[in-house]
Amino acid sequence: MTTIHKKKILPFPQLDEAGFLALRWHIEEHPDTPQSKSVERILELLRHLRNGGDELSKAEQLRFTTELRNRVSTYRWVRRVSYTSKGLWASVVPADIEKLLPEDRWEYGAVGDLLDMLQFHGGFSRIGRCADTRCGRWFYAINRSDQKFCSLACKQHHYDSNPERRKQKQAYMREHYWEQKRRAQRADERFKKKTRRSQKTSR
Ligand SMILES: [Zn+2]
Repeated sequence: MTTIHKKKILPFPQLDEAGFLALRWHIEEHPDTPQSKSVERILELLRHLRNGGDELSKAEQLRFTTELRNRVSTYRWVRRVSYTSKGLWASVVPADIEKLLPEDRWEYGAVGDLLDMLQFHGGFSRIGRCADTRCGRWFYAINRSDQKFCSLACKQHHYDSNPERRKQKQAYMREHYWEQKRRAQRADERFKKKTRRSQKTSR
């Protein structure tokens, strides 16, 4: 039997996983443009300030919030009303949208999506950056807001490459090995005793 998942209708537009992956794809395809760098810096600031920035000092909170505010204030938006097949529609669009270059339109779209997320979902807990140092990729956490890695492979690599963890793992494996070996020996002895007893009784 197939289960039909009804698509949840959200009260506000929101950057979902697919939207976020498209944003990340664009940054990864054009990592050196000023537009990608601006969006990435805003992502970084929002990540620092996620969950109210409660892991930061007061000075850091203020510094990041000020930088975010300054960056956001450089974008100019206007409200526009248009008539569509479904009736009147109001939206927020970049000022002088017609004059913007495609790359600037993308930047406005990406920043607008991130700010909508902040406005309507108060916080930024779904977007993180992979804690594995060889990776550092942005990710969208589907299930857990405290997710630290972009993939299981990165999680494993991070733990395996930590010298302290590696020592712990090796010690555990050694302990486990001797434990297993002792258990096997004991089982073997029990089995031998049992067979000796049954041989005696059967005589
Ligand atoms: Zn990763």
